[in-house]
Amino acid sequence: MDHILDAIARMTHSERIEDKTALGQISAEEDPFRVLIATILSARTKDETTLAASDRLFSRYPDAKSLAVARVAEIRKLIRPVGFYKTKAPRIREVAKILVTGYRGRVPESMIELLELPGVGRKTANCVLVYGFRKPAIPVDTHVHRISNRLGLVSTKNPEETEIQLMRKVDASLWLGINELFVRFGQEVCRPLGPKCNECLLNKICKYARGRIS
Ligand code: SF4
Repeated sequence: MDHILDAIARMTHSERIEDKTALGQISAEEDPFRVLIATILSARTKDETTLAASDRLFSRYPDAKSLAVARVAEIRKLIRPVGFYKTKAPRIREVAKILVTGYRGRVPESMIELLELPGVGRKTANCVLVYGFRKPAIPVDTHVHRISNRLGLVSTKNPEETEIQLMRKVDASLWLGINELFVRFGQEVCRPLGPKCNECLLNKICKYARGRIS
């Protein structure tokens, strides 16, 4: 697995903060609250839209305490045009309220508690662990799921199965960087449509490129 991650790292190259994913950039602020809210906003939304909406939201409501008492209409205006912004506006306020009443304004660090928050599934919870707390976990989004199957690292039908198989196969010391690497690789090279297999360093070992799967 090390050589695969090395090859992907070489293909996604830059260490510049502005070249990181939206969550990679937000994690630099070392604030689990922002990571949690931005991850909820990021569903079905392009990275640049998530970043811009997060910037607008956090400049007005920088923490759970302020967001918990914000007007939904105002939140809606700030996060538009993220996908499903009308649904997400009351949801993130509700999450903020729960953090204030149940966790003294802080984000819980356990998977079980994170999953109890509205709108938080395994992918979001794992993102909070990785990007918010730097705890080893494997957030599986569409990029991680697609690339893992194309490469033949796993053979699965949904992200939950992919997470389980990856956790079995990949040493825990490598979990922390997988999401960031795979998402960038999926955006730049192993795209959903038209992957750049000809220039990919992994095309000799990739199941998809070798025509084993369609
Ligand atoms: S060879 Fe093609 S399908 Fe395989 S990992 Fe590279 S870009 Fe993706």
